[in-house]
Amino acid sequence: MLDVIIIGSGPAGLSAAVYSKRANLNVLVVEKVYFGTGQIAESHQVDNYLGLLGMNGYDLGEKFRDHAVQLGVEFKNGEAEHFEAFEDGWKIQLKSGEVLETRTVIYAAGAIHRHLGIPGEQDYTGKGVSYCATCDGAFYRGKNVAVIGGGDTALDDALLLSDMCNKVYLVHRRNEFRGSASTVERLQAKENVEFVLEAKPSAIIGTDMVERLELEDGRTLEVDGVFVAVGMVPMTNPVKDVVELDTNGYIVAGETGKTAVNGFFVAGDIRTKGLRQVVTAVSDGANAATSAEQYIRQQ
Ligand code: NAP
Repeated sequence: MLDVIIIGSGPAGLSAAVYSKRANLNVLVVEKVYFGTGQIAESHQVDNYLGLLGMNGYDLGEKFRDHAVQLGVEFKNGEAEHFEAFEDGWKIQLKSGEVLETRTVIYAAGAIHRHLGIPGEQDYTGKGVSYCATCDGAFYRGKNVAVIGGGDTALDDALLLSDMCNKVYLVHRRNEFRGSASTVERLQAKENVEFVLEAKPSAIIGTDMVERLELEDGRTLEVDGVFVAVGMVPMTNPVKDVVELDTNGYIVAGETGKTAVNGFFVAGDIRTKGLRQVVTAVSDGANAATSAEQYIRQQ
């Protein structure tokens, strides 16, 4: 039986894998996305990871993964669907039907993009609606786009797109931003960025492709692309009956990654915490692996 199964291969999962391996634990990483590195792959530039100023998110994710691979960490492509405690540990059933057994679980499944839920959003996904400016921005070179949201993702996306698009509308439902003040200042200095504040999108309209974004107050923005950056939803569905979730769906756990359930640890964006960043995810992975190691040694 394995000592640790880690669910997720983002920075939290990979860090947990490195710490587990170095603690001589028998570890397997189960990842939904083949050769994945999590959300970080979508980050154009990560300027706040200590010592790596200006690092591209995709490259940083690859470095994290290489580190785990070089230490001999094994990966399995699969989606964990069901978790059940038994006398010696945990049984994890994958979507394929395969059942894995492990002494401990480190659940680091991260979060997915929240949707606006407005007419046209689903119909035009991939036809002008995108959730990843880093991935799709280049398709809108010289065009007009709207970015929806007021957090760091929306601000970073608007900055990235302003370097390639003709016009960027930054559409936010309030008149204060949740994201970094320094990025707001950089955006204010851009001639092709227009802030559209106290504005709630009501519909995305087009024919074959997106043609405009309509706002609840009746305003219309003529755009070729709509980049939705309104936060994330934690991937806790498979474990909602196993561990305690807070009102937003995050798993209740402190810095140690320990949950109230024996042998079940968490790391990264999935847990209740104040700051969801690469650096805190990496830190979580180290803590959760150390907690799992201590738990195994005590058994
Ligand atoms: P976030 O901080 O949760 O921001 C989501 C934004 O979307 C908020 O401004 C929110 O408005 C808005 N919003 C939510 N639902 C909406 C809806 N239905 N319609 C319109 N607007 C809606 O999410 P995030 O920007 O993805 O960032 C997540 C975490 O990652 C944060 O901790 C962030 O700091 C971090 N991050 C950091 C970096 C970086 O440091 N470079 C880059 C990306 C992300 P309200 O403000 O009104 O609630």
